[in-house]
Amino acid sequence: MDDQVEDFYEVLVIGGGAAGLSGALTLARARRSVLVVDAGEPRNAPAAGVHGLLGLEGTPPGELLERGRAEVRSYGAHVTRGRVRSVEGEAGAFVASLEDGRAVRAARVLVATGLVDELPDIPGLAERWGRDVLHCPYCHGWEVRDEPIGVLATGPMSVHQALMFSQWSADVLFFANGTTVEAEQAERLAVRGIKVIEGRVVGVETVADALAGVRLTGGELVERGVLVVAGRMVARVDFLAPLGLTPVPHPMGVGEHLAVEAMGRSAVEGVWVAGNATDVSAQVGAAGAAGTLVAAQINADLVNAEIDRALAAPRAFSAEAEREVAARAEQGKL
Ligand SMILES: Cc1cc2nc3c(=O)[nH]c(=O)nc-3n(C[C@H](O)[C@H](O)[C@H](O)COP(=O)(O)OP(=O)(O)OC[C@H]3O[C@@H](n4cnc5c(N)ncnc54)[C@H](O)[C@@H]3O)c2cc1C
Repeated sequence: MDDQVEDFYEVLVIGGGAAGLSGALTLARARRSVLVVDAGEPRNAPAAGVHGLLGLEGTPPGELLERGRAEVRSYGAHVTRGRVRSVEGEAGAFVASLEDGRAVRAARVLVATGLVDELPDIPGLAERWGRDVLHCPYCHGWEVRDEPIGVLATGPMSVHQALMFSQWSADVLFFANGTTVEAEQAERLAVRGIKVIEGRVVGVETVADALAGVRLTGGELVERGVLVVAGRMVARVDFLAPLGLTPVPHPMGVGEHLAVEAMGRSAVEGVWVAGNATDVSAQVGAAGAAGTLVAAQINADLVNAEIDRALAAPRAFSAEAEREVAARAEQGKL
């Protein structure tokens, strides 16, 4: 269901995942007018359930967000399906243009658009993402415990991933996929019983809607029920380019994120960021918590701006009054 969108909001929340909806909830409860624009593609959409989330353990991602939308609406926030194409303007007067041609004005913007996992271009891999091609031991480890697990070397986190997954299964293979495994890393993998498989992975194969294994260059199929892959994590923030906000390389070499100050304040006054768009390692709980925290900062920022305006108003009035008195005196009317 889409709400009727008004012309102006105190806060525009771009992205309606855990971070955006949590932020919208706090802002709506703070009696702010809030619009959430959401493209409807949360990062964990392919997963069957959200794990590691206290009190909501295992809830399907879509159900969690549906409940969240109902909660923010119950406090008067509006939610609409759409994709923001660009944001222009300045604090107090931002204008967001949506792909469907709508435009919305807002005093403040909360960016909560998450990230995209750019996966290696290996045939058959992307189709299994979030099902048996996985990345996060805390999201999926319990569900795949004791399974034969393969870890594909894709970047700086791959050895770490293999070491972590060995906590859930004694059968972990590390597919070097053309990369060099340093001696120290090889030693650490060996201590955890993880064998390194040389050669390139050229395909991911499925039988009866389940992962069968990975195909190596030489043609050999190595049977695996699970493949662990670290995609390149890239913040979804192209629409901020007109404001001069662009993502920067993540310090851990795992992708690109929007760098912000503590509490989510961006380099552009009035634009705030929460969740995976800035913190690539945030799980659902952390993304939601960040949305709540940043929303409180935005509300405080608006309260302070309102106070500043109120304090400036009588001064402006008296300055004008003084000018009028002087003008009248000059004209001899006083
Ligand atoms: C396969 C998989 C499984 C996972 N499992 C778990 C788990 O079990 N437990 C856990 O805690 N975490 C899990 N995660 C991590 C979880 O997905 C993230 O922590 C969470 O999604 C971050 O929330 P977010 O609000 O920052 O971003 P998202 O949830 O990605 O929400 C961002 C929203 O913004 C929208 N959007 C993007 N661009 C625009 C735009 N221009 N205009 C409007 N809207 C836009 C998107 O469509 C999306 O709806 C998993 C991740 C993956 C990939």
